Amino acid sequence: MDNLRLRKERICSVPVEEFVRRIKDFHGAFAPGVMLGGYMVDLAYQHLPPGDILFDALSETRSCLPDAIQLLTPCTIGNGWLRVLDLGKFALSLYDKHRGDGVRVLIDPAKLGLFPEIKTWFFKLKPKQGQDLDVLLEEIHAAASQICGTMPVKLKPEFLTPRHRAGFRICPVCRKSYPAADGDRCRPCGGEAPYL
Ligand code: ZN
Repeated sequence: MDNLRLRKERICSVPVEEFVRRIKDFHGAFAPGVMLGGYMVDLAYQHLPPGDILFDALSETRSCLPDAIQLLTPCTIGNGWLRVLDLGKFALSLYDKHRGDGVRVLIDPAKLGLFPEIKTWFFKLKPKQGQDLDVLLEEIHAAASQICGTMPVKLKPEFLTPRHRAGFRICPVCRKSYPAADGDRCRPCGGEAPYL
C-alpha cells in the first residue's frame, strides 16, 4: 500500500513500538483506539499555538483517548490537566490552560474510504471478534493522522476557571470530611453513593 511509505516512526517522540508496549502496560491490553489516539495527540502537538505554553487537554469521550493523552502528554486526570467530557465524540483538544486557545483533533469520516478496516472498527460495523486486528493495526499505522481533521478552538471561560475549593467540613451524617461547597451533608449521604 502506498500509504505505508508515510508511516511514522515516532509518536510524540516515542518510538511506535515503545508506544505499543506502553499501551499494553497501561491500558491492560492493546487497543486500536489508544493507538489511533496516539496519532491524534501527535497531530495536536504539531498544531499547538507557537511559543512555550502550558496546555491542558480535553477528551470528548471516556474511551481510549484519555489513555493516549495520559501516555503522551503531562496531562492526567489526577493532576487536573486532563478533562474528560463524555460527549461520545472521538475527539480531543490541547489548549492554552490560561487563554483557552488551542487545537481540536477528530476523525474525519470522509477520509475513511481508503481504510476499510478502520471504517468498520470506527462505526462498529462488525462484532469485535469478526475484525482482523492485524489488518486494522496495519491500516492505523498507514493512515496515521491522514484520517484526522484539525480545527482551531477556544475554550469557554467556565472550562478554564480553576476549580478551587471553599474548604472542607465534617458531614453530620457519616462524620467524614467533604467539600463545604456541596451543602449541608456530603454527596454520598445525600443519595449519590455508588454502593449498595
Ligand atoms: Zn456523609
